[in-house]
Amino acid sequence: VKRFRLDLHLHTALSPCAEAEMTPAAIVAAARSKALDMIAICDHNAAANVAAVQAAAGARPAVIAGIELATREDVHVLGLFPEAVAAEAVAAAVAPGLPVAWPADRERQLIFDRRGAPAGTLPLMLAASTALTLAEAVALIKLHGGLAIAAHVNRPSFSVLSQLGFFPADAGFDAVELFLRRFTPRPAPGEFEFGLPVLTSSDAHFLAEIGAVTTELEMGSPDFAGLAASLRAARRRTDA
Ligand SMILES: [Zn+2]
Ligand SMILES: [Zn+2]
Repeated sequence: VKRFRLDLHLHTALSPCAEAEMTPAAIVAAARSKALDMIAICDHNAAANVAAVQAAAGARPAVIAGIELATREDVHVLGLFPEAVAAEAVAAAVAPGLPVAWPADRERQLIFDRRGAPAGTLPLMLAASTALTLAEAVALIKLHGGLAIAAHVNRPSFSVLSQLGFFPADAGFDAVELFLRRFTPRPAPGEFEFGLPVLTSSDAHFLAEIGAVTTELEMGSPDFAGLAASLRAARRRTDA
């Protein structure tokens, strides 16, 4: 078991709110320069660039396939998966519930091919909420073998707490993510943990944010299985 540095919430240029500089090659270069062992690609309601970032990274850093789902309650939920195809299947499942993008937004939703070259734009309104309830979103993530993480639980918008007013203990989350920025004080221990392991990630929308917030985690191996086992072990410790 070794200690690894993770940043498990990065957007690519596919997210309409992220910068066009978030290309697969640039994301990988930034992650390497910050000595990150593992990153996760979590675009809003889409996973079309996961495989491109994995191809750009090769073996380092490990790139976890992910997605950031917006539920119909406007709760953001991260799904992390063992394979890109699983994240792509979740994206395909929510696509019919998304409106068509305005042309200006569509131009900001860049897709890259496996060689990292621009390959067009995605025509759905990725900033919209999906048709899924929170329970349906978590179930869809689990159906595809994923880990469900309550995104930025301490943020005043698009979080479980801001939208529901409480944390549903039975929602099936595997971890909670804290939003931390340079001037965001870390909440008191226990305040936003809800008996779950805590991840802190950058939620990077531009290159300089990558690795600005990380999680250090002990894992047997820096891959999805190692991450899932580490979160399970942390969960058992809090249950005990
Ligand atoms: Zn979010
Ligand atoms: Zn995000």
